[in-house]
Amino acid sequence: MRSLLRRTKILATLGPATDKPGVLESILVAGVNVVRINFSHGNEEEHLCRVKSVRNWAHNNNTYIGVLMDLQGPKIRIASFKDGAKIKLNIGDKFALDADMDEVSGYKNAVGISYKTLPQEVKVGNILLLDDGKVILEVTDIKGNKINTMVTQGGILSDKKGINLRGGGLSAGALTEKDKKDIITAAKAKADYVALSFPVNGDDVRLTKKLLQAAGSEAGVISKIERAESLVDVTIKDIIKESAGIMVARGDLGVEIGDPQLPAQQKRLIKLARSNDRIVITATQMLESMINNPIPTRAEVFDVANAVLDGTDAVMLSAETAAGDYPENAVKTMSDVCIEAEKNPIVKNSQHRLYKDFTHIDETIAMSTMYAANHLGVKVIAALTESGKTSLWMSRMSSNISIYAMSDNIVTLRKTTLYRGVYPCGIKDMSSLDWGKVNARVIQVLKNKDIVENGDLVILTKGMYKGGSGGTNLMKILCVDNDEQY
Ligand code: PGA
Ligand code: MN
Repeated sequence: MRSLLRRTKILATLGPATDKPGVLESILVAGVNVVRINFSHGNEEEHLCRVKSVRNWAHNNNTYIGVLMDLQGPKIRIASFKDGAKIKLNIGDKFALDADMDEVSGYKNAVGISYKTLPQEVKVGNILLLDDGKVILEVTDIKGNKINTMVTQGGILSDKKGINLRGGGLSAGALTEKDKKDIITAAKAKADYVALSFPVNGDDVRLTKKLLQAAGSEAGVISKIERAESLVDVTIKDIIKESAGIMVARGDLGVEIGDPQLPAQQKRLIKLARSNDRIVITATQMLESMINNPIPTRAEVFDVANAVLDGTDAVMLSAETAAGDYPENAVKTMSDVCIEAEKNPIVKNSQHRLYKDFTHIDETIAMSTMYAANHLGVKVIAALTESGKTSLWMSRMSSNISIYAMSDNIVTLRKTTLYRGVYPCGIKDMSSLDWGKVNARVIQVLKNKDIVENGDLVILTKGMYKGGSGGTNLMKILCVDNDEQY
């Protein structure tokens, strides 16, 4: 059963495991709200085919599923080893990263690199983390295009593993040529969100928005926070301001800043995003052990629950669903853990904007509605919205009252799939409706879906006239009854 009880949204990555017969359907039924298509794997045809399957399922089941397409970005990698060999590095070994070596000639003492300017950007004493930090190298000297290192943590190294510099600072621009092509694909697929990997600052986000717009896409940009330098206060605030939301990309970020720094950064980033009226996704290794096991570790249960308590909009599954043995179990587990965590009183009341002045009329209506709803005990909030903005504002304030984003705009409805506590609800004939009758129509839709019954209180917000966004200026408290004189 798709749970309407859960407020925190589940974002699940699609891949070979979900291409198997019946698996995609099983994870959608288990409660996935948004799917992630990863441009790091697969080709355009595969991506478009997966998007189509998801949209068909949503249409047939009269529901909304968001699509987030994740750009690969300038992930820096080693090249390949001769004959695909795996090599073993031991502490104290000498190993070189050689920009002059070709793509397929790596051996036990050296390997090529895809990012040719790396030798000019590192210094003696720098720490390079390979394969998410499983192998660690210290730079001992740089000779031309060759970086000589000493192994300080040994392990197995194989083709195309990622390289991160501890502390960050590599100059690779956020958008590669491949990313630019993939933006066109995202526009073709009518993606609801595009995730931008490794943005350095707000300029990267501005450029991405420009390219999306040029490609005719209405997708919101989710900036993945995964570089050490993007954490600087002015930088992160600019990135957040320019984005629809951010992702706490704990994989690469943890490698760059060191895992012990991650929990505090997760809390900071979630708070920053929410207080700036943006959405936030918590990602990577949330249920990692479920790639091969039907149940999670207890630490993973705590991790998912803690992200919910921190205030995240969504929790993400990567290989757990894309390539794991138990995709459906992973989604069910995540859903159950979220629902239980949401019962904690600390996520039900909010200090959001309590001591701030409001700058917009619609924002004021949204905040007043939440205040009234939290104090009056209403059943649901029905926010008639063109752009989704009213429902987004409402959802920044913690509460346990369901917010229905009521709209006839499919793009808006799909975008709200990522907002915590917001449920998209289509009103098909809204544009042809006499605006004076819209209240009755909204209650009728909610009644038909068994969301409300006679005697329930509903807070409805809308604009004076239909159409146009940003016009919400009315809030009405209605008691559901048979008279339908609303
Ligand atoms: P990735 O991003 O899975 O695309 O690397 C998420 C992360 O780095 O945590
Ligand atoms: Mn990453």
